Amino acid sequence: MASVFLEHPSSLEHDTGPHPEQPARITAIERELSARGWLGFERVASPAVERAVLTAVHPESYVAAIEDVSAAGGGALDIDTVASAGSFNAALHAAGGAVRLVEMLLDGEAPYGFSAHRPPGHHATRRRAMGFCLFNSVAVAARFALDRRRLERVMILDWDVHHGNGTNDIFHSSEQVLFVSIHQWPLYPGTGAASDVGAGSGEGFTINLPVPPRAGDEVYRSLVEHVAVPLVSAFEPQVVLISAGYDAHRDDPLADCTVTEEGFGAMARSMRRPCERAGAPLGCVLEGGYALGALGRSVAATMEQLTPVAPAGPGDQLALAPLAGDARERFAKWWPELAG
Ligand SMILES: [Zn+2]
Repeated sequence: MASVFLEHPSSLEHDTGPHPEQPARITAIERELSARGWLGFERVASPAVERAVLTAVHPESYVAAIEDVSAAGGGALDIDTVASAGSFNAALHAAGGAVRLVEMLLDGEAPYGFSAHRPPGHHATRRRAMGFCLFNSVAVAARFALDRRRLERVMILDWDVHHGNGTNDIFHSSEQVLFVSIHQWPLYPGTGAASDVGAGSGEGFTINLPVPPRAGDEVYRSLVEHVAVPLVSAFEPQVVLISAGYDAHRDDPLADCTVTEEGFGAMARSMRRPCERAGAPLGCVLEGGYALGALGRSVAATMEQLTPVAPAGPGDQLALAPLAGDARERFAKWWPELAG
């Protein structure tokens, strides 16, 4: 059984003009993967998301407003977020790809998968497009898993360099979604402080892991290995989704972190191991990443670790970075597994 790569040509019709979040991002990923035989992944055309699945996260009035802007030929939605005539359809397929990925994982049609579309999604809140994002695809897919597939526990690891404020907000008071975000701080959008741990019955289920500029493989990998990985064992998610942005790469023009493609591959390898143990399927949903060559290589490095033949291997012996130690201490109150 092959892993799956979900894509749709509508991703190229979301015309942002001169903008770092551009159609060439998708072309760069496809060029890299095509040169490597798609790493054995089966390519799947993403359907448009079903309206009712989308409106389980975004109110109908918001969806209709985005639809109207596209129908009118496009326009600015936010200071840095634009829609063109093709954007609504592209965003429907981006969310639809994430949902189809979850379906295929839960139905046992694929062990792993990668949903690669634009626009990205993790900054979109229920009622607001921002940060290049229209619909929050990963949140729509998580909501689908909970509502339609009756799952009780979904984990989202967001390693995009920016805080996934939309996902953070949407599941802020939910104990059904464990949201773990590693992000440069301070940086756009300014949210994601370590002190934001969720609210109400969702307290302790929002794990914000801000890192300083210039954080690289060592810090990112340590946070994954020593915080996210034990949380998989503790929370026992029924599916794990990675909001896979690649703008923490050292070549990226929009941020100052120094992660390498090998670092992204190592983080995927780290996550795979506890997921296999917990029987939780693992899928990635593309977010940011604006250095085209680095983006293609980093997506490939991630996917390389998510093929049935890649051995999960033993745990990497990674030093506990001070930031990871601090985070373990901070969250041990809710997750005793992180103590010590
Ligand atoms: Zn980003």
